Amino acid sequence: MPNDPNPIPGWLECIARSGYRLTAPRRAIVDIMASSDRALEPLQVYDLGRQSCPGLGLVTVYRTLEKLEELGLIQRVHQPNGCHTYWRAACGHEHLLFCTACGRAVHFSGDNITPLIEKVSNQTHFTIQDHWLQLFGLCPQCQQNNL
Ligand SMILES: [Zn+2]
Ligand SMILES: [Zn+2]
Repeated sequence: MPNDPNPIPGWLECIARSGYRLTAPRRAIVDIMASSDRALEPLQVYDLGRQSCPGLGLVTVYRTLEKLEELGLIQRVHQPNGCHTYWRAACGHEHLLFCTACGRAVHFSGDNITPLIEKVSNQTHFTIQDHWLQLFGLCPQCQQNNL
């Protein structure tokens, strides 16, 4: 899986267009979310953010994450244990795979679930318009650690 290119320039442009003012604490959160290779809980974002921005408050973390989600830059990742984490949103139609042990996440495309969708549609008589697919498991590194 190739690394995503640095998304920061596009993010800053999108944030500027929305009229959202980037204070230093908000910018710290944006930098963390744009560069993280794993899905993060708000408290983890808070801990990381305080390293570069000691005055960062937890409320700012929550509000900024909400704003970034609203702008479509990050997405919620639902953990099997019910916790919420956030990771950068996919570009276009992609699905999410993440590690339940360390939170490492990747986007992937190229599913072929059309036969399944047709079957479900036939069974339920729904017109199915879209789907949202998230897989979870253990990344190669965490499999090693488990041995
Ligand atoms: Zn892992
Ligand atoms: Zn799909």
